[in-house]
Amino acid sequence: MQRIRSQQPGSSILVAGGAGFIGTNLCETLLREGHEVFCVDDFVTGTVASVSRLSQHAKFTSIVHDICHPLVIDRKLAAIYNLACAASPPAYQADPVHTMMTNVLGTKNLLDLAQEHGAVLVQASTSEIYGDPEQHPQQETYRGLVNCTGPRACYDEGKRAAEALCFDYLRAGRADARVARIFNTYGPYMRPDDGRVVSNFIVQALSARPITIYGEGCQTRSFCYVADLVDGLRRLANVEPNPQTAINLGNPQEYTVCELADEIIRLIPHQVRKVNRPLPIDDPKHRRPDIRLAREILRWSPRVQLSEGLARTIDWFRQCLPAADANEARQPAKTMMGEGAGR
Ligand code: NAD
Ligand code: UDP
Repeated sequence: MQRIRSQQPGSSILVAGGAGFIGTNLCETLLREGHEVFCVDDFVTGTVASVSRLSQHAKFTSIVHDICHPLVIDRKLAAIYNLACAASPPAYQADPVHTMMTNVLGTKNLLDLAQEHGAVLVQASTSEIYGDPEQHPQQETYRGLVNCTGPRACYDEGKRAAEALCFDYLRAGRADARVARIFNTYGPYMRPDDGRVVSNFIVQALSARPITIYGEGCQTRSFCYVADLVDGLRRLANVEPNPQTAINLGNPQEYTVCELADEIIRLIPHQVRKVNRPLPIDDPKHRRPDIRLAREILRWSPRVQLSEGLARTIDWFRQCLPAADANEARQPAKTMMGEGAGR
């Protein structure tokens, strides 16, 4: 019988990638619950603004560090969340070797830290480990269809290797590792120039620029609001006993990219049109999580509907857009890398 225990308030928790989109949301939740939070980030895609905001909490410490190198923490850690890895395709393809090393060396370094501290480690894996899936929706037992030599491989294969490491440490009794396979997530603290579809479309619509549909826009994704996702990650950290399986976390409501654009246009009634741009290489055609395991083991399911989550995210971009110097929505990796503007 699974049980979700509550973490003792005041526990010390490390969030690698804490200056990024999901990491900032997670750090905020942990601080609100009274924990001491150590954010480890090299700012490859994370922002100083996020860390400055979090630094207003007395129990927040920022450590500038690349997890590809081992790290020492002199406080006893109860949990480690490994969110460190650029997640937007243009960003993770800008330095693919660093992306791969972050996932392999970085995850190993954090597993060693978890072993040393006797801490739970939650690994942020991804739906990308299913590649361009032939099974729909995707169950955790599906082994995926990944192109190991394409431009997405640094991320997909890196995350697959990281999962393998987590389960090797778990089987050997070295670390209490848990793996969340996260599906497309959106919400406040995304960067305007992040390059992913939700931020691109909102920034384009708010600035009355054309919405860039890659390909025909009939590819699908399932979008999870970040507060729901953070709740799922917390439950995974606190469930007993260790689930011993990777668990999908995502919202099973599936939309085509064109449907997402239409919903954003409905919520931001500017005169915007859609333009088609080339489909990036190896762009998965469909993606939707089967979340039966998360329901059973974590008693988790997402609560926030797309329209409500998008409205909250639009509010966030309205606040942060005037301050952002880079309010151009990112273009596909090929273009960006050609222009040398990956990160
Ligand atoms: P993000 O790019 O906003 O944040 C990633 C953070 O990790 C950034 O702050 C970045 O500076 C930091 N980072 C990257 N490499 C690092 C390194 N070597 N050392 C230290 N810090 C490093 O991405 P996100 O959307 O917040 O995603 C967080 C995690 O969740 C990632 O691991 C990602 O793969 C996973 N994930 C996210 C989604 C999603 O839709 N957001 C979906 C699937 C998986
Ligand atoms: N996409 C798009 N326009 C954009 C950005 C992305 O049509 O401006 C598409 C992209 O080709 C993919 C989907 O939206 O099919 C989701 O892309 P994202 O980069 O957010 O995440 P992915 O799921 O591909 O990692």
